[in-house]
Amino acid sequence: MKPDYKQTVTNWGNFPVVEKEMKSEDSSAKIIEYVRNHHEIIARGNGRCYGDASLSENIFSTKRLNKFISFDRLNGIIECESGVLLSDVLEVIVPQGYFLFVTPGTKFITVGGAIASDVHGKNHHAEGCFSEYVIEFNLLNEKGEILTCSKIENADKYWASIGGMGLTGIILSAKFKLKNIESTYIRQESIKAENLDEIFKLFDESESWTYNVAWIDCLQKDQKLGRSIMMRGEHAFKHELPKKLQENPLKMQKGIQPSIPFYFPNFVLNNLTVKLFNLLYYFKQSKKEVKNFIHYEQFFYPLDIVNDWNRIYGKKGFIQYQMVIPKEKGKEGMKKILETIAKSGNGSFLAVLKLFGKDNPEAYNSFPMEGYTLALDFKVNSKLKKLVTQLDAIVEEFGGRIYLSKDSMSKPSLTNYLQNVQNSKFVSMQQKRIQNN
Ligand SMILES: Cc1cc2nc3c(=O)[nH]c(=O)nc-3n(C[C@H](O)[C@H](O)[C@H](O)COP(=O)(O)OP(=O)(O)OC[C@H]3O[C@@H](n4cnc5c(N)ncnc54)[C@H](O)[C@@H]3O)c2cc1C
Repeated sequence: MKPDYKQTVTNWGNFPVVEKEMKSEDSSAKIIEYVRNHHEIIARGNGRCYGDASLSENIFSTKRLNKFISFDRLNGIIECESGVLLSDVLEVIVPQGYFLFVTPGTKFITVGGAIASDVHGKNHHAEGCFSEYVIEFNLLNEKGEILTCSKIENADKYWASIGGMGLTGIILSAKFKLKNIESTYIRQESIKAENLDEIFKLFDESESWTYNVAWIDCLQKDQKLGRSIMMRGEHAFKHELPKKLQENPLKMQKGIQPSIPFYFPNFVLNNLTVKLFNLLYYFKQSKKEVKNFIHYEQFFYPLDIVNDWNRIYGKKGFIQYQMVIPKEKGKEGMKKILETIAKSGNGSFLAVLKLFGKDNPEAYNSFPMEGYTLALDFKVNSKLKKLVTQLDAIVEEFGGRIYLSKDSMSKPSLTNYLQNVQNSKFVSMQQKRIQNN
């Protein structure tokens, strides 16, 4: 029998799985007491990182820090506790004509998780990371003190905590700026690219678009290597919308979400099914180019439509491998990466390519650097470690690095870029793994 204070905890990749103590409190006094009485603590938001970043001996869940503090409708500034989900923020702000400046590919993450990973979206080349819009946050540090951190006050802690992966303390609440929108629709163009040359050309041509992203069929080889679909978009103004959509331009989409009710057996997702999925995805768009208006839910959060979709990878779980390669070597690096994957036969269901703009040198712990970033999902199996080692070698050769929020097995030299976060109180399994290797 396991002791009743321990529970099974895992993040979105269902790998690794650990038995650890997890606690949640909703008052500052109790959280301070918890921090004073425990060692090896890490904060956990909604567990949407893929690997072992929010796992430790003692996990502090911010689930109960779920209250809104203020909403300045005139100036578009919101303040809330750190466990509030971006999906909850959207429910409040969108009907008032606001949106998040930066959102990742899921809305089911917390505000604390967005700051600690300094998340990026499809607009990094144009609008940077989440931290660009953070005004201040309250941080509970290793001494049990609550510090207000901003670019002016406790600026050292502010910058170390941005992208600091929870290692500087527990973010209790945050205040950040919002973006004005006239409608909940995105003016989208989807363009098919036959190969890597075409998709890189499209990225060059699309830099003036606020949002752009490409889905890549990573099992294609030779002339078709890099076959993909680019999706670029802008928030639609009311007057641009078709008449019918103009009647309710800030319409929210609500409905019952289907769920994956159980872990798929191991044989369901194999090279053949991945190939088939990629083929269907590419040919579901019959024309070379499609222009339309789609709701932000489909544009930003297509994966959120199915709850628990991570179960399709089976009980052994999966990893997401996300790297960035500097811009000038981007195409060459991606070619080598895609060739290695195609040769390995270890297909990725989902491969997403994005462009990062210039990084903010002050936010030194943030993952993005100017270049191309590719995110790939791989089922955990006996061949995976070998593939990851090969991919790591390419990323290293091209001077790139790996996103800590996705990492669970990459080479430590590609993931040890965090600075000024060391202390004996806040420690994650991920940092221990990186430092002990
Ligand atoms: C489908 C999907 C798509 C995604 N797309 C993107 C994307 O496009 N861009 C991107 O950048 N990321 C993306 N991610 C990753 C995700 O946005 C980040 O991992 C995010 O940090 C998860 O937030 P969370 O609240 O679930 O935190 P967790 O996963 O629980 O924790 C993540 C990290 O934040 C720390 N942390 C959490 N809360 C706090 C707090 N209150 N104080 C201090 N530290 C804290 C944890 O210690 C940990 O290091 C995606 C994830 C999924 C599942």
